[in-house]
Amino acid sequence: MLLQLAADGLAIRTPGYSVSGEIQCPLTNKKKHIAVPVTEESTVNLEQPQLEAMFSGTRVDILSYISKYPFIVYLSHKGRSVPDSIRKPGIVEFGCIVLYLDNLQQYMSQEKRGRYSQVLRNFVAHSTAERHWLVHPRETRVIEILNGQLEFWLTQQEKEYYKGKDPASYRCAMCKATWCGYSRECESCGTHLYTSEKRPQR
Ligand SMILES: [Zn+2]
Repeated sequence: MLLQLAADGLAIRTPGYSVSGEIQCPLTNKKKHIAVPVTEESTVNLEQPQLEAMFSGTRVDILSYISKYPFIVYLSHKGRSVPDSIRKPGIVEFGCIVLYLDNLQQYMSQEKRGRYSQVLRNFVAHSTAERHWLVHPRETRVIEILNGQLEFWLTQQEKEYYKGKDPASYRCAMCKATWCGYSRECESCGTHLYTSEKRPQR
């Protein structure tokens, strides 16, 4: 029925979406969690979408274009999970919203008035329930930004940790290497277990 409605064009409310990551500094043991928004909640108007179209070798329910980006709506329910092939179709910039149909009846029955088709259309156009972004066209770039922010935080932590500390002289009893620096880990042996430290005399 949703496909029949979509044939005349479909407005769909899309939820907000952000990516997040966590990192721990091995020196200070502090943890940092960062979330970066990919998109705000919005409404997308699909005019003349292609129904049950092929997208990169996978049959998708609704295929449309927003600016130049392919935009897919995949209808999912128990027994019809999203195929992995949609996630990595060989192009980076496209969007895919998965709409879950299993609990739809429950939302429909809350609406006493109106024709079923209109209630369904309203639910798709105005609610953000029962759907999520599987892929967003900006996602890859935002993940790069996120990783940059996590790395920046880690560098700041390291600077903080070493601030006011003098470099020390080290000697590894295993490979006999000596070095001067902030880390007691022997680079050749990959461990600090055989390292002894000698603080420079001031
Ligand atoms: Zn060593």
